[in-house]
Amino acid sequence: MKENKFSEILEILEQNTPLNAPAMILRKSFKRTPYTILMATLLSLRTKDENTAQVSKKLFKIADTPQKMVEIPQPILENIIKPTGMYRKKAQTLRDVSQTLIQRFDSRVPLDKKELLSIKGVGEKTANIVLNNAFGIASIAVDTHVHRISNLLGFVKTKNEKETQKELEKKVPKNLWSDFNFTIVSFGQTICLVKNPKCRICLIKNYCTKAKND
Ligand code: SF4
Repeated sequence: MKENKFSEILEILEQNTPLNAPAMILRKSFKRTPYTILMATLLSLRTKDENTAQVSKKLFKIADTPQKMVEIPQPILENIIKPTGMYRKKAQTLRDVSQTLIQRFDSRVPLDKKELLSIKGVGEKTANIVLNNAFGIASIAVDTHVHRISNLLGFVKTKNEKETQKELEKKVPKNLWSDFNFTIVSFGQTICLVKNPKCRICLIKNYCTKAKND
């Protein structure tokens, strides 16, 4: 795909991102700092953005720093984050990661990818989201929406999220990386749904080989 096709498609999607897209609601649900972005990203694993937004709004009013987070008794933390699922494991991860930040990074979130990945509980996707959203360091975070839609639109031809990430980083111009995840995820949550995509109102159907015209 030619470079300008990426820009054309992303520009159309960016200009038409619905305000009710769960990714948009999540973005506006809490005061964004590197720490809250990291914690919200950990909470968002394997749950819907609506659930993460609801929990983040409540949690960061009580604990928006590593110190405040580790001071919340585990059962209370579990109860607060319950709507995001896997709450016992996630509560432990939030506490462990916060403890590591206190002990090794002076309570700050490191802006170096290697350092981020050295924290137990922080994986590649989380690190990329944090670098991008908290520090403006361009990276492409690939989740299920990004993997599915990138293949649908012919950006890549890949079998899994890891391959998609590698291919996208080779093909997508770097100036488009920052908003790539947010734009594609918002589109996947509102128009290009897994079941019954809204092809009739899709503004990029001319680029899509799977468009349904019914
Ligand atoms: S035309 Fe349909 S399947 Fe293709 S990108 Fe648009 S919504 Fe998705």
